[in-house]
Amino acid sequence: MKKMPSLFVGHGSPMNAVAHNSYTESLGALAAAMPAPRGILVVSAHWVTPGLRVTSSPSPRQIYDFFGFPDELYKIQYEPQGSPELAARTAELLDRAGFPCAEDPARGIDHAAWAVLLHMYPKADIPVIEMSLDYKMRVGRWFEIGAALAALREEGFLVMGSGNVVHNLYRFEAAIDAKPYPWALKFNDTVKAAVAANDRARLSSFALPVEESRDAVPTPEHYLPLLPLLGGMGEGEKASIFHESIQNASIAMTGFSIG
Ligand code: ZN
Repeated sequence: MKKMPSLFVGHGSPMNAVAHNSYTESLGALAAAMPAPRGILVVSAHWVTPGLRVTSSPSPRQIYDFFGFPDELYKIQYEPQGSPELAARTAELLDRAGFPCAEDPARGIDHAAWAVLLHMYPKADIPVIEMSLDYKMRVGRWFEIGAALAALREEGFLVMGSGNVVHNLYRFEAAIDAKPYPWALKFNDTVKAAVAANDRARLSSFALPVEESRDAVPTPEHYLPLLPLLGGMGEGEKASIFHESIQNASIAMTGFSIG
């Protein structure tokens, strides 16, 4: 079986679910260029829990976890099957690496997954599970989690973080093509350089309240799903950028792939 790539995808505003832009096009092109995965594991910025969890329902419900958006967004149906098999395998790999992970049969799939995947796999014919962010975990351990999950790539699964490397809703502009803030552009470049250098100490520091990331990462949940990608990097692999744009002035849609 061919080793699957691994991704970090920016998801940004839920309006991207109904948009056609350079970002949504990049997702379709990316999926078309990859082998079809057996299943997809999404590390979601929108599921923050004490301890790690994975969705284990065979038919998880679609969660519309956003408010005040146009009706058309709440009418989108994107309901792939879940995968109890992938959930069990993920929990097994994490447990073995020293990260206890609970299977959650009640939790559905939020827009960090479905608003992205509907552009990649519009037929919703590939099983999807989500993994939560453990808010108690030390930041550097996200690299170890990525390393633990790397075996899934060999088994034909797509492992994908979904968040945003720059994500400031306090400074969000309604227009998707609003002029980017200088600090958003600057921090996006900073992250790109740190990813290119695989500088894990530096990348870890941005998730904490530090001056350099203050405007771009006011809260860590959208930033953290980037880190497992780098932890899962194999010998000789490097992260490449498959898309880059700033939306709504304060949200970076930058996406990285390995493999
Ligand atoms: Zn989000």
